[in-house]
Amino acid sequence: MINKIKENIYQLSFKEFGSCVYIIKIDSKTIMIDTSSQFVKPELVKDLKQIGLEPEDIEIVILTHAHWDHDANTNLFNKADVYNLKNIDNLPITEFKIYKVPGHTKDSLAILYKDVLFSGDTIFHNEGIGRYDFPESVPEKIHESVEKLRNLNYKILCPGHID
Ligand SMILES: [Zn+2]
Repeated sequence: MINKIKENIYQLSFKEFGSCVYIIKIDSKTIMIDTSSQFVKPELVKDLKQIGLEPEDIEIVILTHAHWDHDANTNLFNKADVYNLKNIDNLPITEFKIYKVPGHTKDSLAILYKDVLFSGDTIFHNEGIGRYDFPESVPEKIHESVEKLRNLNYKILCPGHID
């Protein structure tokens, strides 16, 4: 399903299990946040077409963390520069503020763009928070990270999962 969040922001959500995918167009750059699971690949490609994009139009992919339901289609976007925790400090999009939020995973990050917060699996709607009982979780950091995000000045929450 395609949900237009703002003039330049789309949220793609899927029938099969997988994270939401967000498309943000800033100036001439087309940016994708998360690439979802292998199960949604055909639906993802179809939805992109619907909003006038081919996979090779995606120039930047940002992964909120390296879970399979968020990053499985990354190699579909073979023209894109891929950013995650390791190289996020080099992201060339100055409009994005990046927050490192260990907890759900060690490598979790969130992105604030104007009044829109892309929170990955750290916070969800209705006060929900992500699981922090994986081997790759940092349980002692989750509450600090959740508070950090909740205290940001955002109006629209774009989490990794909406159902
Ligand atoms: Zn996750």
